[in-house]
Amino acid sequence: MNGKVWLIGAGPGDVELLTLKAVRALGEADVVLIDDLVNREVLQFAKVNARVIKVGKRGGCRSTPQAFIERRMVQLACEGLTVARVKGGDPYVFGRGGEEVETLTRAGIVVEVVNGITAGLGVPAALGIPVTHRGLSKGVTFVTGHTAFEASDTVGLNWKALADGGTTLVIYMGLSNLGAIVSALLKAGMKASMPIAVVQEGTLPTQRSVVGRLDQIAGAVARAALASPALVVVGEVVRFAHSIALQDTERKSA
Ligand code: SAH
Repeated sequence: MNGKVWLIGAGPGDVELLTLKAVRALGEADVVLIDDLVNREVLQFAKVNARVIKVGKRGGCRSTPQAFIERRMVQLACEGLTVARVKGGDPYVFGRGGEEVETLTRAGIVVEVVNGITAGLGVPAALGIPVTHRGLSKGVTFVTGHTAFEASDTVGLNWKALADGGTTLVIYMGLSNLGAIVSALLKAGMKASMPIAVVQEGTLPTQRSVVGRLDQIAGAVARAALASPALVVVGEVVRFAHSIALQDTERKSA
């Protein structure tokens, strides 16, 4: 009989942001496939004799190809094992969860998805930023900044809509394109003084952030040498960022 696959979202970093269901699923697994963005502390909830396989696709680093990971999960489940595939944030938000569910289902494997707190919600909250706020932000938009400027990206982002939307803009994987993102937003009419935050390793003890205005953020982030994983939050609600983050900015940009 085939085993099953739990596709688990581990949240943005802080291990206490795991759901009870994620903890239970981890405790049932014979094999844990853990992504490199995931806090290793989650493994305390795995069985002591569970096999742990590290996989990851972090940009620029040595990586495990997606197809290999999917094949491996199918193999393991076909051996009758219960597999926990643990991903950062939520599996269905820029996590390729949809593709993995498709592959597993096609192979006749039962898969259950466990939501996680996506970085786009957990990381702003770690700075005290509410992504919506009455009178300030009517909604929140999640986009990826990763492929935003590639020639092959035929769909493209509607910068005008993003700049005018009256919603908070949360950009995943936006750090390496930060300069181009800022230019696109300014060109689309966003005001130069729009508050913006860039947060590295949000919710973890190693969290670092730079908060400032749109037209000055790229220089401040470069001076602070923020690195991946980092999230970009743009909008009036960024005013709520803890003063500690603001002090950070001042110190870093001094
Ligand atoms: N499925 C994940 C996102 C995967 S894409 C989720 O739902 O959160 C990876 C990107 O998420 C990173 O490049 C970064 O932009 C963002 N990210 C994830 N964890 C983060 C963290 N702790 N702090 C800042 N950004 C983070």
